[in-house]
Amino acid sequence: MTIQTLLTGQTLTYTGDPLTSAWQECVQIDSAGAVLLQGARILAVGKAETLKAAHPQAQIVSYGDDLICPGFVDAHVHYPQTAMIASWGKRLIDWLNTYTFPEEARFADPGYPEQIAARFLDLTAAHGTTTVASFATVHPASVDAIFEAAAARGQCVVAGKTCMDRNAPDDLRDTAQSAYDDSKALIARWHGTGRAHYAITPRFSPTSTPEQLSALGALWVEHPDCLMQTHLSEQPDEIAWVQSLYPEARDYLDTYEAHGLLGARGLYGHCVHLTAREIDRLAEVQGRVIHCPTSNAFIGSGLLDLPRLAARGIPLGLATDTGGGSSFSMLRTMAAAYEAAQHHGHALHAAQLMWLATAGSARALHLDHQIGHLAAGHFADIAVLDLRSTAAIAQRANRAGDVWEDVFATLMMGDDRAVRATWIGGSCVQARRDAVRPA
Ligand SMILES: [Zn+2]
Repeated sequence: MTIQTLLTGQTLTYTGDPLTSAWQECVQIDSAGAVLLQGARILAVGKAETLKAAHPQAQIVSYGDDLICPGFVDAHVHYPQTAMIASWGKRLIDWLNTYTFPEEARFADPGYPEQIAARFLDLTAAHGTTTVASFATVHPASVDAIFEAAAARGQCVVAGKTCMDRNAPDDLRDTAQSAYDDSKALIARWHGTGRAHYAITPRFSPTSTPEQLSALGALWVEHPDCLMQTHLSEQPDEIAWVQSLYPEARDYLDTYEAHGLLGARGLYGHCVHLTAREIDRLAEVQGRVIHCPTSNAFIGSGLLDLPRLAARGIPLGLATDTGGGSSFSMLRTMAAAYEAAQHHGHALHAAQLMWLATAGSARALHLDHQIGHLAAGHFADIAVLDLRSTAAIAQRANRAGDVWEDVFATLMMGDDRAVRATWIGGSCVQARRDAVRPA
């Protein structure tokens, strides 16, 4: 008989998009809820008492007053930058040259990609993250390493070989042809294998020739079910550089559009300084904007006005941008998103922040039919949050007027200590020592 597991606690579910509708109508917390798991999937979500009665054979894992929520979906990371996160003193282009490229060059060493991929997935699971969309390095072995590590964990990961054929060190450059050939071979090897999803990955326009962007645009036409991930309008210096490299382009987005790299399955990281035309085009084609607020603050890029883009109907995701971002934590990232929006006069609600970090990012990746929700049929990718994980949070939570005030304190002040357990594909892959309370 198939083993069933019933997680009981406070459950977080969604019935709509709280950035475009009233959050009260879209987001629910059930203080006496439960999630029934069978194999890798969620079988049912409902009242604990009802599910206990209907499934008396299920093993019960009681999480008390903890918040059982969908696992976090980090929609833009660079797993190869794990070991150089929090590097001091540079802005984007100097930061790439000083810290990032030397570290990415190490991925030519046998065994190194496997070591960092495993470390990265362990660290992110400890922070409640169950899916990432990651840039790899120029080396195809770096893509194999992250997909193999994810497969061993039963984990859904989006990844792709980073393509660069100019303005990068010799040992990190490919060509237009080899980028096409290597990416095509990786798609054949990985895309749709288990829970692996391939993203065609030009790093950004300054490190690709027009020929390379065209080759990757042609590859996307051949594989339209793949995602495409890149960077867009992160810093003013970068935008000026793009203008000098692509003098005929109307704007930064046009460098992608002109080469077949604009579409609804395109993930555009940062988008801090978009022009009116770029916003119009992204809204029109439903291109995904991935907000990386800790990175934007850390590298001094600026403060994205996220609610403004949401009001235009652009699908949005949330991301750490490890290691341009300064934390692996999507809790810390939600706090930074709140702070960035405050600078533009918007107060994002805890319900909106949680949705962004889970269902919103899953939708951005076109995977919200599989992940990002506690819902029957979805994969059992779950984070369990202790809403009193530190003395500072507990004393604030004890004064909370309602459950959302309680949750908000953890979003603003929490870190990996708040993650009591992480479940991936129906298995508990990470749990604090005090994780499972007696039923
Ligand atoms: Zn990035």
